[in-house]
Amino acid sequence: MFPTTIKHRKKSHELLAYEALFRRILEQYRQHEAIVPEYKREKAGYDGERNVDYKLSTYPHKDFFIFQGIRLKNSPFFFQIDTLILTKSVIYILEIKNQKGTFNYDSEQRQLTQIVDGTEKSLKDPILQAEAQRGHLLGWLARHGIFNIPIETLVVVAYPSTIIENVREDPDVYKKIIHNESLHQHLDRLDSRHTRDKLTTTSLKKLCQALLDGDTPLRTDLLRQHNIGPQHLINGVPCQRCHQYPMKRLYKKWQCPNCSAVSTRAHERTILDHFLLHDITLTNRQCRELLQVDSPRTAYLLINSMNLSRSGNNSARIYHSPLINDFPQSSTIPVTFKNHFAKQSLD
Ligand SMILES: [Zn+2]
Repeated sequence: MFPTTIKHRKKSHELLAYEALFRRILEQYRQHEAIVPEYKREKAGYDGERNVDYKLSTYPHKDFFIFQGIRLKNSPFFFQIDTLILTKSVIYILEIKNQKGTFNYDSEQRQLTQIVDGTEKSLKDPILQAEAQRGHLLGWLARHGIFNIPIETLVVVAYPSTIIENVREDPDVYKKIIHNESLHQHLDRLDSRHTRDKLTTTSLKKLCQALLDGDTPLRTDLLRQHNIGPQHLINGVPCQRCHQYPMKRLYKKWQCPNCSAVSTRAHERTILDHFLLHDITLTNRQCRELLQVDSPRTAYLLINSMNLSRSGNNSARIYHSPLINDFPQSSTIPVTFKNHFAKQSLD
């Protein structure tokens, strides 16, 4: 009776990399103003999208096929859709807005301003943004031989506390920028306008597969973006209990020299964080440096235990990062921030 989720939302590479950065950056930089607001923005975006995912998952319509976030290539550009819904008769694009405060939308000036804590900020016109995604998707579909399916767009404001002011009282705007709470009613309204099937069950399945194959999550180089060098980062494996580093490699386990905590798997997080921040591959030599172990045999056993994909043989062997969509989602970081959406968040 409920929709089928073809692709479940995963944390963006950027969000995963910020979490890795908080684990790897020296303690005195963890609250740095260059990184904290960016992390919070990315986290609020993810939380808001999950609010919409939840609302959509309860929409009583079994013929909806949902992609919770997808990034496709329309050569030479990429375009990203927050939520994509396929049906046999119509496709929906949801552009999700996660900001708080008051939105003033002026449909004549095509301008959105956000007022929060007394300050005013100009944002991109979300209706135009959604229309641009529609144009990109039409192009992508045409290149996959699909021409005749209508595409509807909705701008969904994720948090109920955000106030939407339709400055010109434009009736179209009420149908285009909506609250997450009214998502079901708007989908009902749009769905009733598209009753004729444009896709067969087979062509819909093929399209789902082509979309999954075409999904190319963005990778962000946070270290370069923020000019972060080795002097800002910790060395070795940090203790997950007291955050001191490096843990010492004893026989088949890691031990913290500060609090004496013992771990058999502490190296895994360090290797995954290397993939998020530094490089998508790892050699035995890099691994020894990363974990601060001397023995190539030990490094081999440690990486080997992680079931990473690999290429090359013997000393030339290279281990590869999990794909972004397959990356472990755990998010323990050695710092806490007040989440200004805490009341509405699913967490
Ligand atoms: Zn410790």
